[in-house]
Amino acid sequence: MQQIILLTFAKTIPVDLSSIDVQRIEAEWLIDNDVSLDVVRLDKMDAVVSGNKWFKLKYYLLEAQKQQKTVIATFGGAWSNHIIATAFAAKQAGLKSVGIIRGEKPGVLSYTLIKAIEFDMELHYVSRDQYQRKQEIVTSFLNENWFWVDEGGYGKTGAKGASEILKTVRVSAYTHIVAAVGTGTMLAGLVMGSTKNESIIGISSMKGNYSIEEKIRDLLEQENGEALFEIKHDYHFGGYGKHPEELIAYINDVYYKHSLPLDIVYTGKTFYAIEDLVKKKYFEAGSKVLMIHSGGLQGNESLGAKVLAF
Ligand SMILES: *Cc1c(COP(=O)(O)O)cnc(C)c1O
Repeated sequence: MQQIILLTFAKTIPVDLSSIDVQRIEAEWLIDNDVSLDVVRLDKMDAVVSGNKWFKLKYYLLEAQKQQKTVIATFGGAWSNHIIATAFAAKQAGLKSVGIIRGEKPGVLSYTLIKAIEFDMELHYVSRDQYQRKQEIVTSFLNENWFWVDEGGYGKTGAKGASEILKTVRVSAYTHIVAAVGTGTMLAGLVMGSTKNESIIGISSMKGNYSIEEKIRDLLEQENGEALFEIKHDYHFGGYGKHPEELIAYINDVYYKHSLPLDIVYTGKTFYAIEDLVKKKYFEAGSKVLMIHSGGLQGNESLGAKVLAF
């Protein structure tokens, strides 16, 4: 069993990377355009804590341990993949965790928050207004034993961890790598982990988030980082957290055709974008495309029962 050691000293978190595999997609729209598409299934790492968040957290946890902190504190919404992953990873590392949750405490807790509590995360609810002033929150909780991680794991440390996503595949076999973009941390990591012969394409899940290119460049410490990646802004389906009928129907269709479960916030939009770009001949003939399935399936629990086919 292939394992990677999260914490090289004190404690180890063995994660079974052998459960990650690469799925070849067979479809007429690919054959017609002479493009191949593989999907690396990070969603298979774990049913709850699947995908890129675990990679992004890896070096934050190491750093926290190095600094002898006892608590990991971070921010997120009621359906945040980052919150649940932080709760899980901290517990595995023998650290406590604190989640600052956007908005008033809901009458009925979300699946995500219930799971986070199960992983012993202490939750603090703050108003949407307050949530925007994160530095104030950090100051109000001032405690030298706490290690703060930015919302979504944004930062160079997160990107370094995300670069290791590409260790799970033979990168040089591909001409293009396509992934969903939220904070852009994963995308920066993919640029860092690529051989630089692959084009890196990010599909923004947010509407009109045009400052994201600069935020990614900041992580790369490169002035002309834009030469290394490209962001598509046309596949947000109405915005972050929006999942119109059309997207739900598409996700169900992909599941029936390819047995590939996608999430409603990130990977559903990304797969849709790839199909659309292939059909529009964005990829030249002979292109070998790799999609990163970054996980996030737990967020689908926000839908009512029987909305999705899986
Ligand atoms: C958080 C997340 C992303 C976005 O990652 P960023 O590093 O914030 O850009 C993509 N896909 C899934 C499933 C996520 O949970």
